[in-house]
Amino acid sequence: MADSPLRILFLAGSARCGSTLAGRMLGELPGLVNAGELGLSLLFADAQAVTVPCGCGQPEAECPFWSAVAAGRPVRDFGLPWRTRNLLRLWRRMRRDAALRMAMAEVLVPLYRNVAAQAGAEWVVDISKNPAIGLILSELPGVELAVLHLVRDPRGVVASWRRRKAYLPKIRPIKVIRWIWFASVLSEVLARRAPLRWRFRYRDFIADPEAVLRQVAAGLHRPAPELAFLRPGAARFHTQHILFSNPDKMDGGWIPLRVPEVNLDRPARWLTNLLTWPLLARYGYFRPNR
Ligand SMILES: [Zn+2]
Repeated sequence: MADSPLRILFLAGSARCGSTLAGRMLGELPGLVNAGELGLSLLFADAQAVTVPCGCGQPEAECPFWSAVAAGRPVRDFGLPWRTRNLLRLWRRMRRDAALRMAMAEVLVPLYRNVAAQAGAEWVVDISKNPAIGLILSELPGVELAVLHLVRDPRGVVASWRRRKAYLPKIRPIKVIRWIWFASVLSEVLARRAPLRWRFRYRDFIADPEAVLRQVAAGLHRPAPELAFLRPGAARFHTQHILFSNPDKMDGGWIPLRVPEVNLDRPARWLTNLLTWPLLARYGYFRPNR
């Protein structure tokens, strides 16, 4: 129905905040479809060069789901006129420019609607994380945005980027810390604009996914889910057509849900503590046993 709002559940946070696993869990809720980093693949300038298989393991061009959604066109081409490295500037331009908002809505809203229709879902989960993309989506007329801000211990995020991961490179701590600040502050700005919002720490999500998922389902006015894909400490997922994201998206079988340990060498730990202590305090990482 064209008149009903387009419902997007946007997962905001820093890169490596645990969004791949969280997104897969959200995608198992009835009425939700996990589209992966759809907004990022549409609007981020460097997305054009990225060649990452879909979550089903097929190249995106050969994936039947995305071929049906985009009528055989590459999905990322839909965002071509607006693609940029400075997504925050694009958001600011949209706020001033009604014609730009309408032009973007005319292309992007039907695309997201097709994702929902193709999956028979009411909510499209977009795990792009970059809150600037959430802000852009929030400006599109006809969009009802819910925001889930996923917080991960900055030391864990820095540690994660110290290692190469399949097609993802290593990144220096100082650069990662800049991202963490950007993502944290802006995710809070974004969440304030959304009528439906949650903030969860990744470790709490992983420790008790059932509680988190029930809370989200209730907030989205969905019936209480059965969550048969969960068993204590593990989850098993159906195939989800996840765009971009982390290579873990293709892992099959029972996937262990482990609360991540922070394994960071001493200099990097000191640096991260020094530069992110207000965030560590705000999100409760200084409290013992939490
Ligand atoms: Zn696919």
